[in-house]
Amino acid sequence: MAHIAFLGLGNMGGPMAANLIKAGHSVVGFDPVEASLERHAAAGGSAAKSIAGAVDGADVVVSMLPTGAHVHAAYVEQGGVFAVARKGALFIDCSTIDVEDAREVGNAAKAAGFGFIDAPVSGGVGGAAAGTLTFMVGGDEADVEAARPFLELMGKTIVHAGGLGTGQAAKICNNMILGISMIAVAEGFVLAEKLGLDAQKLYDISSKSSGQCWSMTSYCPVPGPVPASPANRDYAPGFAAAMMLKDLKLAQDAARTAGASTPLGAQAAQLYQVFCQNGGAATDFSGIIKLLRGA
Ligand code: NAD
Repeated sequence: MAHIAFLGLGNMGGPMAANLIKAGHSVVGFDPVEASLERHAAAGGSAAKSIAGAVDGADVVVSMLPTGAHVHAAYVEQGGVFAVARKGALFIDCSTIDVEDAREVGNAAKAAGFGFIDAPVSGGVGGAAAGTLTFMVGGDEADVEAARPFLELMGKTIVHAGGLGTGQAAKICNNMILGISMIAVAEGFVLAEKLGLDAQKLYDISSKSSGQCWSMTSYCPVPGPVPASPANRDYAPGFAAAMMLKDLKLAQDAARTAGASTPLGAQAAQLYQVFCQNGGAATDFSGIIKLLRGA
């Protein structure tokens, strides 16, 4: 059984680490939030007081951090992973971050004699708890194969997308589609309300018609049709609107750099910006329906 360091025990990292523990691995976690460390210990993990404390002696380091700045700080800065990890250790970064950040940290890790893959996920907190996440993975074949047994404990679908950074490229494209499709579904329900069409009836028809998509059938933005969707618990996340805005901005940055035309992605980023500035940042991203209703 491996000695695993797990950095970032939040909404996603907490349940992902718990699945590694369930499989019998020794998982030493670090998170600056004390309550997250306590949950990790209750799940059978050990809690460290610092990154260094978690990474010391680890075979594998898994990180699930909010942004590229957090990832850069955790790995590269003084007292971070690079300084402490044993040579040959394997790093698996599951955070959603910029393609260039992933390549920079990944290339620096490889140059220093470590393995590194970018392995962002899709599937939300439900998928993290159930161990059914989709991993989109960038990196060398040998590193991906070394990581696969650990990824398989946390996810169901593992796709090797290509070299370093391509996992993040896949994630950014996927989440741009998701942000746009959530706004489209929410607009459909708002229009239905104005036309006197019952929300459940629209769901019964559209979920079996060409308007069907994940935003409708898993995270339906009105309460009722999908009992597990955040709309039924006053839009508690789930996937926070602030995180969706971060991903839409990453997609716009990438589109500018690559010269891709993404007009709906740009519009989605603007709408989520307004929603977050008006108190929606910590609510689930499906709460965008409130903005569209004019609230
Ligand atoms: P979160 O805010 O719940 O968790 C992040 C955790 O990282 C927090 O507990 C924070 O205290 C911790 N942290 C910050 N700096 C740290 C450091 N230096 N060392 C250790 N821990 C540190 O966020 P989340 O929802 O778990 O998302 C994490 C990542 O996963 C993000 O990049 C997000 O975009 C991505 N993601 C989230 C979802 C989702 O549904 N929530 C789905 C797919 C991908």
